[in-house]
Amino acid sequence: MRIILLGEPGAGKGTYSAELVKKYKIPQISTGDMLRAAVKAGTPLGKQAQEFMKKGELVPDSLVIELIRERIKEGDASKGFILDGFPRTLPQAQSLEKMLQSMNIRLSGVLKIEVAKAILLKRLTGRRVCKGCGATYNIDTMKPQKDGVCDKCGKELIQRPDDKPETIENRLTVYQKDTAPLIEFYENKGLLKRVQCEGEYDEVMARIFSALEKTAKV
Ligand code: ADP
Ligand code: ZN
Repeated sequence: MRIILLGEPGAGKGTYSAELVKKYKIPQISTGDMLRAAVKAGTPLGKQAQEFMKKGELVPDSLVIELIRERIKEGDASKGFILDGFPRTLPQAQSLEKMLQSMNIRLSGVLKIEVAKAILLKRLTGRRVCKGCGATYNIDTMKPQKDGVCDKCGKELIQRPDDKPETIENRLTVYQKDTAPLIEFYENKGLLKRVQCEGEYDEVMARIFSALEKTAKV
C-alpha cells in the first residue's frame, strides 16, 4: 500500500500514520521528522531548513524532493509507505509522480484528513513532543501519565518551536496557499478520499481504515 496523508498542520497526520505503520507494517515517511532530525544533527540540509521551519514557511521544493527521492528507494519502502507531510506543493506532487513512474509503481490513494480549524488550533497549541523518542502528546487530549515526561522513554516533553501561536497562523496560511491545491490535483486523478477526523479517536481510526480498505487496491 502506498498512500499519502494530506491535511492541515495539526490534523493528526503523524498520529494516524503511527497506527497505519502498526497495522500495515510499512514505514511512515515524514519530511517534517526527517527535516527536524537534520536540524538536530546540524547537517548542511538542517542548517538550510532551520530558518524556514522556525517561521512556519515551507522548505524549498528541491531540498525535500531530494530527501524523498533517496528515502523511497530504501529497502523498507519497497512494499509500501505512508507519506506524511509530502507532497506539500504542486511541484512536489509532480516530482513524486515522475519518481514513482520511473520506479514502475503507483499510489494506492490519498487520504484527506478533515478537521475544523478550531480543533486544529487546539491540537497545535496543546501538542508536546518527546525530546528523546519524538512521541507526540497533547496537554488537553492525550496527556502523558506524568506531566512533562514521556511515557515511552522518560525524557522531557517540549513544545515544537513552530507550535507557538504566531507561527501556527502562518503555517495554516501557507497550507491554504501552497498545499490545498493538491486536493484538486489528486481528486482529478481519482485518488482522493476525504475522511472526517473529529470525534472519538477509535471511531476516527476505524473511518480511516475503512477508507483505506475501499480506496487502496494494495
Ligand atoms: P505540520 O504538518 O504539523 O506542519 P510537519 O512536521 O509536517 O508539521 O512540518 C514541519 C515543517 O517542516 C513545515 O512547516 C515546513 O517548514 C517543513 N516541511 C515539512 N515537510 C515539508 C515539505 N514537504 N515541503 C516543504 N517543507 C516541509
Ligand atoms: Zn520519549
